[in-house]
Formats: sequence, C-alpha cells, structure tokens
Amino acid sequence: MKYKRVLLKLSGEFLTGDGFGIQPEATKTLAQEVAKAHALGTQLAIVVGGGNLWRGARQGVGMDRATADYIGMLGTIMNALALQDALEYLGVPTRVQTALTIQQVAEPYIRRRALRHLEKGRVVIFGGGTGNPFVTTDTAAALRGLEMNVDAVLMAKNKVDGVYDDDPRKNPRATKYDTLTFHDALVKGLQVMDGTAMTLCQEQNLSIIVFDMFKEGSLEGVIRGEPIGTLVHK
Ligand code: UDP
Repeated sequence: MKYKRVLLKLSGEFLTGDGFGIQPEATKTLAQEVAKAHALGTQLAIVVGGGNLWRGARQGVGMDRATADYIGMLGTIMNALALQDALEYLGVPTRVQTALTIQQVAEPYIRRRALRHLEKGRVVIFGGGTGNPFVTTDTAAALRGLEMNVDAVLMAKNKVDGVYDDDPRKNPRATKYDTLTFHDALVKGLQVMDGTAMTLCQEQNLSIIVFDMFKEGSLEGVIRGEPIGTLVHK
C-alpha cells in the first residue's frame, strides 16, 4: 500500500446515478468501492460535495450568493449522512463531522478528534464543506487534507480517467497526462480541481491524484500505488 492516509473528494453526483438527488442504489455502489479501499487498511477521510442537490453559483442566481452557498453546504451534509448510512450497512465504521454544526445528526468538526477516528480505522466523512461561502468542496478537500496530514488528495471523477489537455468527452484526440506539475496545471487552466483549492495544495506541496471512480477497483489501485489516473505534484 503506497498511501497510508488519504483524503477522497467525492462529488455529489456520485450519489445520484441517472436519477435526481440522492439515489440509494448509486450510493450503495459508491460505498462498495470505498469499503474495498478501507479494507486495505488505509486511513480514509472523505469530503463529499453537494452538486447533485444544489450549486450556489448556478442555482442561487437571483438571490444572495452567501445564502445560496449555505444552502449548498447543507446539501453536502445530507449527502454525508446518506454515504455514512451506505458504508455502515456494509460494516464500515464511520463518523460524520460537519463544518456547520448540526449536533443531532453529526459531530462538529474537531481536528484532533477526526485524527483519532482515522487512527482507529474509522472513515471520517466531512460534511458542510469549509463552512464558508464563496468556495466549493474542492477547497474543503484541500483544507481537510492538509489538516489531516494525508499523503494525497484523491479527486474522484465521473467517467474521466485523469487530466487531459482538452475535454476527452468532446475531443477524441485529447491526450491524458500521467503526471503534471501544479504550475503547468494552473498555467494551462487544466481541470484538476477549482483554482483556490489547487493553489492551496501547491503552496503546501500536497499531491493530487485525479482518477475515474467508476472504474471498478480503481480507488483500491490508486491507494496501492498503481499508475492510475493523473498525479499532480510539485
Ligand atoms: N459550498 C460552499 N462552501 C464550501 C463548500 C460548498 O459554499 O466550503 C456550497 C457551494 O454553493 C457549492 C455547493 O455548496 O456549489 C455544493 O458543493 P460543490 O459544488 O463543491 O459540490 P460538488 O461539485 O463536489 O458535488
């Protein structure tokens, strides 16, 4: 196993499948992949997005942006609970910690407590993003990844197996990078994660791996150190 502790960033769309909102079947499929990775013995922290329910920048048009973003953050907490449910059904011990406190359903984010959960082999799911508007859960992934001292941030993508020089869904000649520097990714404007988040990873030298979560076993492969996806590094 190459990575002993990782931060996995899951977009909300992984819980949706072909439907709307949170679909139990899609969430179960997702949880199965996470459970396989957990079984390797790696310490897993997860930041879950909320784009399946609400995106402040898009759905919040015509309303106060900060309010729209808080709605988005609440959405990520709903996803966190759904993912927790699916993981625990598979016997994976989990804890949800949220950046906005909703103590009846989840622990508040407490860094040292989260670290302790990881050491005990619990999957820690972070809901509520950063707790601040005007950023996305990518920034939460970079931030929590740094706070948890992870070896890498794993950016799970939906049917795209890495970073390409153009959109592979539109351009069949687009070529994939196996490795990429932060500098090149930023200068070329490549789709790794949002800019604020990537700058944070660059400044703190936290590597990112972009991979296709839908390819069965790929999360496990990444954690084992197999050459899967694109490694973004210093
Ligand atoms: N959000 C926010 N602050 C955060 C994280 C999320 O304001 O720290 C809001 C923002 O409106 C965002 C929404 O929550 O659009 C859902 O998160 P995101 O778009 O990152 O979800 P994903 O694309 O990963 O599913």
